[in-house]
Amino acid sequence: MYTCHRCLRCCSHKRIRVNPYEVYRLARRVGMSTTEFLATNTICGGTELARREDESCVFLTKEGCGVHADRPLVCRLYPLGRRVTPGEPDRYHMSETHPESDGVFSDSGTVESFLASQGARPFEEAADRYFALLLRMGDAMSERASTDQEEYDAAAEVLSAPPDWQPWLDIDAALQSGDGESSAPASAEIAMTRHIELLERKFVSKATATKSGSLSQPEVQSP
Ligand code: SF4
Repeated sequence: MYTCHRCLRCCSHKRIRVNPYEVYRLARRVGMSTTEFLATNTICGGTELARREDESCVFLTKEGCGVHADRPLVCRLYPLGRRVTPGEPDRYHMSETHPESDGVFSDSGTVESFLASQGARPFEEAADRYFALLLRMGDAMSERASTDQEEYDAAAEVLSAPPDWQPWLDIDAALQSGDGESSAPASAEIAMTRHIELLERKFVSKATATKSGSLSQPEVQSP
């Protein structure tokens, strides 16, 4: 078991990656739409939390994490790392901790109890759902590559350019522009489900169903 003593040293010089579910939770935590949040608190096309000039996380305060209840999965797992291989059990390994960290290791507890204490499961499930979506998108791309190289290249361009990823990460913009539901999602889990279904309809199903058609940019707003 690892016990954090809030020395705050571990929240600097780190690349904190986020998926759309995590962006949604963090955005609501700080009272923003995901569009506003992505524009102001992320880098790398919306896939990482921003850092300040001193390399500290944008949410680090003198008292600790300013978004603790909605912190991303990597912060919950630390100092563990998680390796996911489709069809195999998840594997966890120890990451290197900050050399001056006040965190304390002990022999008590299990990985399972540590994950439960950190509230990691909903975040792992969200990461798995988006990972599975990416795999389905990859399959759709492969199918397209085998039937039409020109359309495959066009689709690859849409999907691989970092600036184009931000709308895909932006749940609020995506849902506003096209999932047909008029009500606001009642929870982050519902928002994620609607977002995944939307991307599935707009990309995976379309790519596999219209082999002779062109793959267009998804109808989502840019932040
Ligand atoms: S989100 Fe919170 S726990 Fe994670 S790096 Fe930033 S300040 Fe630290």
